[in-house]
Amino acid sequence: MATIQEEILNQIKRYDTIIIHRHQRPDPDAYGSQLGLKALLQASFPEKNIYAVGKEIPGLSWISSSEQFMDDIPDATYNKALVIVCDTANDPRVDDQRWRQGLEIIKIDHHPNDEPFGDWQWVADEKAATSIMIYEWYEALKDQGLQMTAEAARYLYIGIIGDTGRFLYSLDQEVFRVVSEIFAYQFDYQSIYLHMTTVSESAAKLSGYVLQHLNILPSGFAYVVLTRTLIHQFDLGDAGTSFIVPLPAKIDRVKAWAIFEEQDEGNYRVRMRSRSVPINKIAQNFDGGGHPMASGAWAQDQEEIDKIIKSVDQAILVDEQTQQVKDKLDD
Ligand code: AMP
Repeated sequence: MATIQEEILNQIKRYDTIIIHRHQRPDPDAYGSQLGLKALLQASFPEKNIYAVGKEIPGLSWISSSEQFMDDIPDATYNKALVIVCDTANDPRVDDQRWRQGLEIIKIDHHPNDEPFGDWQWVADEKAATSIMIYEWYEALKDQGLQMTAEAARYLYIGIIGDTGRFLYSLDQEVFRVVSEIFAYQFDYQSIYLHMTTVSESAAKLSGYVLQHLNILPSGFAYVVLTRTLIHQFDLGDAGTSFIVPLPAKIDRVKAWAIFEEQDEGNYRVRMRSRSVPINKIAQNFDGGGHPMASGAWAQDQEEIDKIIKSVDQAILVDEQTQQVKDKLDD
């Protein structure tokens, strides 16, 4: 019986048109896996039409070398197309909802498969990044015509360093093995690091604000609420605010944290992170989800913000009590 990886390649071979999607508000792994797969398929099947669609995030435009890096395609292109959705756990989060118009749908993802979709699914939540999966797919099937290029390798590398926080999280031997293979291709990794490690002066000042105004509860849960007015004061331009998400981890007694960012619609985007207590189930209760240690959610108002704070605070305290009981039993 064919493996799911072989099945995916068989489907790709059957179609002349392949449209690759990923999640809304893309991060480097969403772009990296999507554009890495596109570059890999273009090199392997030059006769096919391969597109990558979704909104362009100006702050991440450096990821691509071309000025317009998302393809603009008419609805009719979907009539005969295979759609591949990368790095997206649930279907409402797929960027560009026309994905449903594809003749067949393939899901490739490393988030917990709480909301399955698609005709073919390759979901592996133990993988550090969807970009790792794309590289391993190439590796497993390269004798069947798949061609890696420096461009594809660069995109996949961006995805891997994005989701591992430049080798801080989700590490295992596989990550380093794949990265060592990827380094066989020539690309300018220094310029990637320059983009990923530096921020504008105004963004650095917002970082200072976040650290100064972080509320840290006795449990070790930290949070900050950023209003629209405040964010506008910092004049971030296209940068977005993702650079502030890892900041609370710098404080040793912080065990989990959330950044609440008010949107133009008046609701709040919530970005949650944890060192050890899973938070994705809490995120799911607030229109969100994600990984156990890195999730996103939505709060409609202050009342929901308070509920999220209480839920994570409680989860840390319960986890500590459970740990104490375990330690006592072990003694
Ligand atoms: P973020 O906080 O936006 O960087 O997202 C952290 C993780 O949670 C990523 O893997 C996202 O794909 C996932 N995530 C963020 N927001 C949502 C949401 N509303 N629903 C499901 N997953 C989400």
